[in-house]
Amino acid sequence: MLNVVIFGPPGSGKGTQSEQIIDYFGLGHISTGDILRAEIKEGTELGKIAASFIDRGELVPDATIIGMLENKLNALKSSKGVIFDGFPRTVAQAEALKEMLAKRGESIDVMLNLEVERQELIARLLKRGETSGRSDDNLETIEKRIGVYEAQTAPVIDFYKSEGSYHGIRGVGSVSEIFERIKEAISACAA
Ligand code: UDP
Ligand code: MG
Repeated sequence: MLNVVIFGPPGSGKGTQSEQIIDYFGLGHISTGDILRAEIKEGTELGKIAASFIDRGELVPDATIIGMLENKLNALKSSKGVIFDGFPRTVAQAEALKEMLAKRGESIDVMLNLEVERQELIARLLKRGETSGRSDDNLETIEKRIGVYEAQTAPVIDFYKSEGSYHGIRGVGSVSEIFERIKEAISACAA
């Protein structure tokens, strides 16, 4: 199996590049953000909890996210591999993912860190907010999310550096240019 983490700050293009990776490599997709938004839409208990965090630009607690992930992972047992999009967001989540995969005889093969500077992130997210209808795509919440990313999520970079699966990818350019960089990184380690 080919297991990939796509990582980066809010607005770095994780969702967009995930679609390219899924089409090309035939992987299953787990986007914790998409799962949470679906739960909110359905009005479930989990959705109600999640909305209170998302609207403030904060992270949904580790235990909630990890539990949710375990279910999804079981559903993808027979896929060619999985792309984890927007997860792990904390070092505790990265450790839990490592353990969950190890139990299945699996591991993360590649971690792709999409590198985009702050001003570009804010511009992209404000633009997305014009049409996304997302409660968290407004300037105040965007700035909060970037701060939460720097404080709680960026340390995940060092976790994957020490695992040896880290790849930095310049996340500025056209969708296809960035995807070419990703293909190179994945081919280099999945060969
Ligand atoms: N979120 C979270 N844990 C996750 C995924 C999402 O807490 O594993 C919450 C968090 O509040 C985040 C929001 O959902 O700001 C949107 O996440 P998503 O990954 O969709 O947004 P992105 O960072 O890609 O813009
Ligand atoms: Mg996203």
